[in-house]
This record gives sequence, C-alpha cells and structure tokens, in this order.
Amino acid sequence: MSVFVSGATGFIAQHIIGQLLEQNYKVIGTARSQAKIDKLLKQFGNKPGFTMEIVNDISELEAFDAVFKKHGKDVKYVLHTASPFHFESTNIEKDLLLPAVNGTKGILESIKKYAADSVERVVITSSYAAIMDFKVENDVNTVRTEADWNPDTWESCQANAHTGYCGSKKFAEKTAWEFLEANKNEVKFKLATVNPVFVFGPQYFDEDVSTKLNTSCEYVNQLVHAKADDPILPVCGGFIDVRDVAKAHILAMQKEELIGQRLLMTGGKFNFQDIVDILNEDFPALQGNIPVGKPHTGAQHKQIGAKVDNSKTKSLLGFEFRTLKEVIDDTAAQILKHEGKL
Ligand code: NDP
Repeated sequence: MSVFVSGATGFIAQHIIGQLLEQNYKVIGTARSQAKIDKLLKQFGNKPGFTMEIVNDISELEAFDAVFKKHGKDVKYVLHTASPFHFESTNIEKDLLLPAVNGTKGILESIKKYAADSVERVVITSSYAAIMDFKVENDVNTVRTEADWNPDTWESCQANAHTGYCGSKKFAEKTAWEFLEANKNEVKFKLATVNPVFVFGPQYFDEDVSTKLNTSCEYVNQLVHAKADDPILPVCGGFIDVRDVAKAHILAMQKEELIGQRLLMTGGKFNFQDIVDILNEDFPALQGNIPVGKPHTGAQHKQIGAKVDNSKTKSLLGFEFRTLKEVIDDTAAQILKHEGKL
C-alpha cells in the first residue's frame, strides 16, 4: 500500500517524501509536468518505492480522477499538500481560492469514486491562515488556538493577495471537514489537518537553492541578502521548521489520537529583528553586510501581537519543535554554502 502526496515538488512536500522514504513507505507523488517529475525522481535517486504521476491544474475538479482510477486501490494514505502559496495575484478567486478549494474537493471526490475502501487516512496541509483573524492579529490580549477559524468571507478575503491566500486556506480546509461530514458513510478515511505558521528551513536538496526561494523561505533569503543600511521591516509571525512540519504530517497519518485534529504547528513568534540578530551573531560572513537594527528587541524578547496557544498540538504530537535559532541557522547556512560564502 502507498502514500499519495499531491504537490510533490513543493518545499514542504519534498521533506515529507524524504521522511516517508526513510521509513520505507511506498510513495506516489504528483507534479504538474513530466520535466518536474523527471527532476524529482532523479533527485531521490530513482528509488523503486517512489513513483510519480502528472496532475496538471488542481483548479479542475476532475484533476485527480485519472491517477486515482489507476492507483486508488493501492493507496492507504493521502497527504494533500498542493495549493498555491504566493502573494502575487490580482485575480484572487482564480489564482488562489479556486485551486485551493477545488483541489481539496477534487481529491476527496476522486478518493470517494475510486478509493473509498482503500484510503484510510487523509491529511490536508492547511495553515495558521485558516485560524488567524487579521482584525486581532496585533492585539496582545488575543489568544488563537486549534479551535479558532479565520472569520473572512469568500468576498472579504478578496481584499488583497494576503487576505486572499489566507481565505484560500480557510475555505479549502472547511471544504475537507464538510466533505467528510457529508460523506462519512461513503468513504472509509479519517481526516486530520496540519496548520503551520511560517515554515522555514533548508530546501530538501541543496541544489534547489536559487536566487528566489519558496514564499516563506524567501523572507530569510531576503534578510541574508539585505544591505547594511536597509530598514528592517516590521514583519511579525510564527515560525516552524519544515522538518517538524513534515514529521507532523506523517504522525497525523499514523497515530489514532490525531484523527479529527487540527495540528497548529508553531515554535513561537519571530519578527525580522530576531532573524537579523541570529544572522549577525552566527554568521561572521554577514556581519557589516546586513542591517543590525536594535538587537534583542524582537518578538522573541517581547510580546508582539496575538498569542498562539498550541499546547494541545504539542502534547498530541509529543516531540520538541526546533528553535528559531536552529531553523534560521540551517536555512541561512544552506544559502551561504551554495554561494560559496561559508
Ligand atoms: P510550494 O510553493 O513550495 O509548494 C506548493 C505546491 O503546490 C507545489 O508543488 C506546486 O506545484 C503545487 N501547486 C500550486 N498550485 C497548483 C495548481 N494550481 N495545480 C497543481 N499544483 C499546484 O509551497 P510550500 O511547500 O511552502 O506549501 C505547501 C503547502 O503548505 C501549501 O498548501 C501551503 O498553503 C501550505 N503552507 C505553507 C506554509 C509555509 O510557510 N511554507 C505555511 C502554512 C501552510 P509547482 O511546483 O508546479 O508550482
């Protein structure tokens, strides 16, 4: 029996696949083109346990039908990670909302049609974006937990690409829980979601470091390449290491006690000042080249914005998440090595 991973070319998905293969699972991944498939299969050493199929555009509701028709009876677990993650849209419904929602609806419908008896667990990569509320994100007296939902509507989330991306994650996740409720007598699978804050960490393969990284790692990449007199933007959020997010996906498909849970993955708060502090302290090659700002005044040192309480998730998962220092050190070191600066 296999694990099906949609969006296998993605930053998080590659770590999931790497960890699955280490645990000797058979993996079927999807990507949008044969060229992307050939590259990834080669990077994973053409392991016999790893095969891939083309799924072109998940906005199409039937996008997963052919693959599940072919492999459905061999699939026990589905990890649905594919979804657009960028803030470069002017057509939010088309670029963000529809691929996220139709991708989720489509993959679940394909399971129902072709793998209702074989798929036992579905894990959806959701996001803290499905939990947060923009109106109270700056309010230090607010606490968000696994029980909360982003209150934006289909219309209000289309205000800009940031709210649109967050809306896409909310509506995609809601689609999954509602699908299961409506179809619980027709499918066998149980559901869990993984809801990470900003995911940082090294690319799974060093060779994939490039001038522009995936949306979340690009924040770190930009700070590594900032100029000494650049202002430090007041960007603030939660951080989590990609290796911990990948591990949570696998535990969510393995552990009974994670059925029905939303796993809010955060290792704590950061802002750009915290990242700059770590880069200056740990990388002599960057000292004098990047800004200094006001050291130790960031979110790690004082409460900035809404609190996030994920004690339930931490106790359910039962492992320690990596610290900001660990994740930033590993992300930056990979970039600097690639550029011959370390
Ligand atoms: P990536 O951009 O690296 O991966 C996204 C994946 O989805 C890629 O494989 C991409 O394919 C695929 N995809 C996007 N749109 C489509 C589409 N229309 N049709 C088919 N495939 C598509 O992002 P991440 O790995 O960071 O994100 C993976 C998941 O994690 C997403 O669901 C994201 O929302 C979620 N997430 C990410 C966080 C982060 O900070 N990174 C935080 C919280 C949640 P291709 O490579 O061909 O573009």
